[in-house]
Amino acid sequence: MPSLPPAESETINVFNHETQSTHTMSMEDYLTGVVAAEMPAAFEEDALKAQAVAARTYTMYKQSSTDHEADVCTDHTHCQAYLTEEQMRTNWGDAYDFYLDKIKACVHDTQGEILTYNNEPILAVFHSMGGGQTQNSGDVWGSQLPYLVSVPSPGEDAATNYHSTLTVPFEEFTKTVKASYPDAEIGSYLDVSVPTLSESGHVKSVLIGKVTVTGTEIRRMFNLRSTKFSLDFSDGNVTFNVTGYGHGVGMSQYGANAMAKEGKTYKEILSHYYQGAILTE
Ligand SMILES: [Zn+2]
Repeated sequence: MPSLPPAESETINVFNHETQSTHTMSMEDYLTGVVAAEMPAAFEEDALKAQAVAARTYTMYKQSSTDHEADVCTDHTHCQAYLTEEQMRTNWGDAYDFYLDKIKACVHDTQGEILTYNNEPILAVFHSMGGGQTQNSGDVWGSQLPYLVSVPSPGEDAATNYHSTLTVPFEEFTKTVKASYPDAEIGSYLDVSVPTLSESGHVKSVLIGKVTVTGTEIRRMFNLRSTKFSLDFSDGNVTFNVTGYGHGVGMSQYGANAMAKEGKTYKEILSHYYQGAILTE
């Protein structure tokens, strides 16, 4: 008999990485703070509900791992971002009651719902905008999960900063690359190859001075908003033309909002961005 997916716990221990203290709170209060931190409160209700389910799923996935004493922490680079009541009041001002009620309702209406694959909570990662197409997890992190596959993500271009550019002098480009890759032999822009792209059009790697540098590493070195970029060389400068924001794996938040605006439900949004995962209630 297949095992049942784990049930949602009523309370959770949250390590606040800013105050270095652990707080016990209800799962609903925790998820409200996560949704508030991770997605603009002005987004459509079905986008916020999709975010609530993704956040609940990700939380349960993290709870089963044992890399810190608390169930989860508030460091977004490790677990998920979280806003305290005070931070929500500061961010939302006069709209505090309205947005808090809206997000609480989205968390409550999806109570107990998580995404599973083989009866286990999935790694429900998400990002801001995929640049029109999300990425295969294998192209970003090396391990391909069956439900984290590249899918179209239309409608994100309504967001400000969907396109961004960065121009640096070629000398600075060379210096930055050599700081991480001292073996790269860079004489001129001719030593920088045309990028190798993944299925989604994101940069997998670039051959720079005979050294293979991944798109993720280039993104880190130059603080680019995503790995969906082109490189243009002119007048002694390098210009990165960047599309989207974030790692591009899993649910695109701006794509989710675009789907919700078209009348799609949170269930349709989740099954689009997490292909083959099952919504378990
Ligand atoms: Zn953590």
